[in-house]
Amino acid sequence: MNNTEYYERLGVSKSASQDEIKKAYRKLSKQYHPDINKEAGAEDKYKEIQEAYETLGDEQKRAAYDQYGAAGAGGFGGFDGFSSGGFGGFDDIFSSFFGGGGAQSNPTAPRQGQDLQYRMKLKFEEAIFGVDKEISYPREQACHTCHGNGAKPGTQPVTCSKCGGRGQVQVARDTPLGRVMTTATCDVCHGTGKEIKEKCPTCHGSGHEKQEHKVKVSVPAGVETGQQMRMQGGGDAGVNQGPYGDLYVVFDVAASDKFERDGSDIFYDMPLEFVQAALGDEVEVPTVHGNVKLKIPAGTQTGQNFRLRGKGAPKLRGTGNGDQHVIVNIVTPKKLNDAQKEALTAFAKASGQSVSAQKPEGFFDKLKKEFK
Ligand code: ZN
Ligand code: ZN
Repeated sequence: MNNTEYYERLGVSKSASQDEIKKAYRKLSKQYHPDINKEAGAEDKYKEIQEAYETLGDEQKRAAYDQYGAAGAGGFGGFDGFSSGGFGGFDDIFSSFFGGGGAQSNPTAPRQGQDLQYRMKLKFEEAIFGVDKEISYPREQACHTCHGNGAKPGTQPVTCSKCGGRGQVQVARDTPLGRVMTTATCDVCHGTGKEIKEKCPTCHGSGHEKQEHKVKVSVPAGVETGQQMRMQGGGDAGVNQGPYGDLYVVFDVAASDKFERDGSDIFYDMPLEFVQAALGDEVEVPTVHGNVKLKIPAGTQTGQNFRLRGKGAPKLRGTGNGDQHVIVNIVTPKKLNDAQKEALTAFAKASGQSVSAQKPEGFFDKLKKEFK
C-alpha cells in the first residue's frame, strides 16, 4: 500500500483541507451505507471509506500516514510506523495490510505468522527522552528440536501419501441435487502437503513451540500513550516456512505528579505568593530539562500563562521541543501573624479600601448561631 490510497478512497487530493476530507467522507459514507445501498460490494466500499477517514480525519494520524504509510510499509524492523488510537488502530492496520485473511487458495503456500502486541509501560520521563528496553514475551517459534519441520530428529517429512503434496483433496458429497465434488483441506497433512511419519517429541509435529523471546526496543523520544511501534518479524512464526509476523509495541505512559503533557507541550501549575505576584520576582521553575529561572512581572494575575520555549517534550515528527506553559496560581496566605496583619491593613488604607477584619468566631458564637 502506498500512502495515497486513503486519499483515493475518499476522492480527494493529498493537499485537501480537513473540511474537504470531512465533506467527501460524509457524501461517500451516505452513498455506500449498507442500509441504503444494497449493491454488491457496497459494504466493502463503505468499510474502506471508514478506514480511510479514521486516519485522514485526524490531523495527527494523517501526518503519520503521509510520512510512513498505513503501517510503515517495508523497512527492516525497528521504528517505522506510528498511529495513535491504540487497539482499534492496530486492527485496522492489520486488516488493511494482510487483506483480512483473503483467499488462501493454496494451503501449502507459506503464510506469515500472527502479529502480536506488547503493552509497554513507560515512566513520564522515559516517554519524553526515549529509552532502550529489553522486553521478553512468549511467542511461537520454530521448534528447537526439529528446527521447524515437525519430524523426529533423524527423520524427514515426506510428501503426503493422500494428497500427493497438494494439501487438498477432492471429496464427493451426496446432495439432494446429486453428487457434487468439492475441494477440502487434506486431513492427513492438514494442508501442508507433507506427512510426518514420526513426529518430533517436542512439538508433536507442529514445528512450533512457545518460547520466551527477548528483543531490544529503542523507544524514540516523544512518544505518547496509545502510540505504537512495529517490530518487523517480532510476531509468531509463519506457517509452511512463511515469515514471522510482526510485533506491535503499544506505549502506556504514566502520569507525572508535577506536569501535564499534551503532545509536545508540557503544562505546569505554579503556586505564587500574592506579594511576589504584586511586586514581581524571579523564581525557579521545574521543567523536565531541569530548573529554569523565570521573571515574574509586577502585577501578575492568577491564570496567567508564561511560555518557556523549548522546555517541553521533543516533537516525535519534526525537530526541536515543544514548550512548557507555566500557569500561575496565586496563593492567599491562610494564617497571618500580627505584623503581617498590620502591614496588610496599612496596605488597604494606602489603597483607600476599608477592611473590617473578621475576628475568628469562638466555639460558643458558632453554637449560638446554629440554635437561632
Ligand atoms: Zn495431504
Ligand atoms: Zn519439533
